[in-house]
Amino acid sequence: MPRVLRLALHWQVLIAMVLGAVFASFFGSVGPLNQVAEVFLRLLRMIIVPLIFTSIVSGVAGIADGKSLGRLGVKTLSFYVLSSFLAIVAGLVLTNIIRPGDGLETPSGVEVTPDSLETPGSVADIVMRLIPTNPVQAASEFDILGLIFFSIFLGAVIAAMEGSASETLRTFFDAAFEAMMRMTQVIIKLLPIGVFALIARAVGEMGFDVFEQVGKYMVTIAIGLTFHAFVTLPLVYFVLTRRNPIHHYRAISPAMAMAFSTSSSAATLPVTMTSVQENAGVSKKVSTFVLPMGATVNMDGTALYECAGVLFIAQALSVGLDFQQQVVVVLTALLASVGAAAVPSAGLVMIFIVLEAIGLTNPAAYALVGLMLAVDRPLDMYRTVVNITSDTICAAVVAHSEGEDLGAAAQQSKAESGP
Ligand code: ASP
Repeated sequence: MPRVLRLALHWQVLIAMVLGAVFASFFGSVGPLNQVAEVFLRLLRMIIVPLIFTSIVSGVAGIADGKSLGRLGVKTLSFYVLSSFLAIVAGLVLTNIIRPGDGLETPSGVEVTPDSLETPGSVADIVMRLIPTNPVQAASEFDILGLIFFSIFLGAVIAAMEGSASETLRTFFDAAFEAMMRMTQVIIKLLPIGVFALIARAVGEMGFDVFEQVGKYMVTIAIGLTFHAFVTLPLVYFVLTRRNPIHHYRAISPAMAMAFSTSSSAATLPVTMTSVQENAGVSKKVSTFVLPMGATVNMDGTALYECAGVLFIAQALSVGLDFQQQVVVVLTALLASVGAAAVPSAGLVMIFIVLEAIGLTNPAAYALVGLMLAVDRPLDMYRTVVNITSDTICAAVVAHSEGEDLGAAAQQSKAESGP
């Protein structure tokens, strides 16, 4: 077997990313390679809906008593709120220190309005979207929040049922979930090729002309994301599990690479699920509960971005925000990140909700959103990495608190990580 194929998956993926970027900087966007990227993305998207459905139903149905389910729910949601809040505060502080918007000339001719992008009308809309009127339609329209709500409900009902019907359904959903995981593992074998093509496509399509204008803004967000992903979250992991976070990061590195290449937490979910279960030592019970929901509602990177982005716009327009308005930004940024779909650029779209909350709804503000849209791709790639990293840390922390041993898998992954 060629030596490169004997390397651990995360090394293969890293090499593929670098090669993809180098390739695109020489040859730009190459048609056939874009098709390879598309095929890989379609394979992943193909299994997302059945994976979410079967994993949640089988996971929740396996938690026999309502009390454990409630406990898991409370722990998971508390972690989501805490980690997103920490991310937002990092964004708030950094943007206030670096002030990337000061002195920026408002661009003309690139105005983007809320109507031209699909935004949910209000916070109430986000809550309402939880309940699908038709679960099959929710699945076909990729309405993941609605699908999760239905799946948790169904799983809880199966858990509460008694007798052979419950047993049959449990066995069925366990088996269906296992089949989905097997499909995922087959697709993941293509990960290095997929990542190579996806990165080449992303780099090939990026326009670098406006990057100079908003470089400071991009650097601010990048520092914030780096701080959150590589200082705050590892610290949280260490404090709550007393384990070395490096093992965890090594275990989830294929998922991080995947998030970076696809800019979609949803498309990354199959890889996240596999990495967390097989390498990070988290049980099926916890990961099936935490990860699909996390991919959809727990977006630390996006939350940080919403906050920093709006402050950037306010600074560029010389609009001073008092303490109270900054609190409103923090709270709406949290909600916007919950409501953002787990697909590329969803976070940018949600920025209108935060802008509206503080009354920044003029054409100049929208022109700045247009500018941000032009350079969104690399930021989106990075915030998606942060989003899924937080989900995996949540899964590990919750698993540890439930008495699971994260150590065994960590040791194994260390042994397998090769050179
Ligand atoms: N692309 C991000 C994700 O899927 C969401 C965002 O645009 O912030 O996690």
